[in-house]
Amino acid sequence: MSNEAAAAQAAVESADLAAPSLHQRLMASGHERPEDDRCPICFDLIELPMGQHSKINVCCMKRVCHGCDLEATQRGIYDRCLFCRTHVPDNDASMLAMIQKRVDKDDEEAMHLLGTQYYLGKLGLTKDVPRTLELWMEAAELGSIVAHYQLGIMHYTGDGVEQDKPRGTHHLQQAAMRGHVGSRHGLGAVEFDNGNYELAAQHYMISVKMGCEKSLNEIKEMFKKGHAAKAQYAEALLGYRDAVEDMKSPKREEAKRLGQFCQLGAIRYNVNRSSGTSRRATGRVATASRKQRGVDIGGWRERGTGEDVVGLMGDPDGLTRAGKFNDRRNFCRAWVSAFSRWRSSGAPGPSR
Ligand SMILES: [Zn+2]
Ligand SMILES: [Zn+2]
Repeated sequence: MSNEAAAAQAAVESADLAAPSLHQRLMASGHERPEDDRCPICFDLIELPMGQHSKINVCCMKRVCHGCDLEATQRGIYDRCLFCRTHVPDNDASMLAMIQKRVDKDDEEAMHLLGTQYYLGKLGLTKDVPRTLELWMEAAELGSIVAHYQLGIMHYTGDGVEQDKPRGTHHLQQAAMRGHVGSRHGLGAVEFDNGNYELAAQHYMISVKMGCEKSLNEIKEMFKKGHAAKAQYAEALLGYRDAVEDMKSPKREEAKRLGQFCQLGAIRYNVNRSSGTSRRATGRVATASRKQRGVDIGGWRERGTGEDVVGLMGDPDGLTRAGKFNDRRNFCRAWVSAFSRWRSSGAPGPSR
């Protein structure tokens, strides 16, 4: 055997040996979510999908849960970061500048976030997939598991790049071994696609126990089609229930209910730009305790001080000093603060 043939033979053998060890590592690690999945204020794991239950502050790249956010809002703090106390930027340009500043300091999460902005064409940037790839690659190299996940999905599905399933799978594996829930779920889907149902169920079981509802649904479907055992489905249900219980808190539940007002457009924010002093925005909500009777909480700019305030319409004592709310987001937050105060005070709504 020539030297080259021997080397090639040795390489094949070592790859054979390496293959099961990768599989073993893959199945033995990443059963716990990373510390970054915890809210830095209450230290509880953030509910999934995290983007719907928390928000990331570009000043420090810390992800704060909606429960802590609401609690602060009710105390009248809604314009600064709860973690580092920096003022929250209220426009795209300053938000982009803050992200860029952290990218310049090699912050991998900021790189990932900037890459995402290029991918979506947001914050005033033009959509630029090659730039996205560069930023996500660098972020992944610096240790961002979310960047690994994004690269995994992108390459596996061929979204914006040439499809490369092995490369995509490799990125998903890197993130899954460090507890990234979406990547673990993705590996379940990869194995399912390959017809390896037992392996798919094993991956899904890991992500279910970290609270992934999508994985629970997949195991349920597999059970219905005879690809998973009843005992596996039962184990998944219990694991999911425990994970979800651990992430719940009364404040987070309240935030879900209140948050809907902002998301569903119950609060209307219309600034009358034609007249500099009469800025007006109103929110109206019917509460269960006051059956169908609505309460209007409005916002306006005070003539004397030029300061923006939010409060019950017709109730000058119930005002929230909002500083200047120059965008809908700040207004909504000030509104929730005023609404919470009104509700906890037990005061009746203004007569009308
Ligand atoms: Zn929290
Ligand atoms: Zn901050």
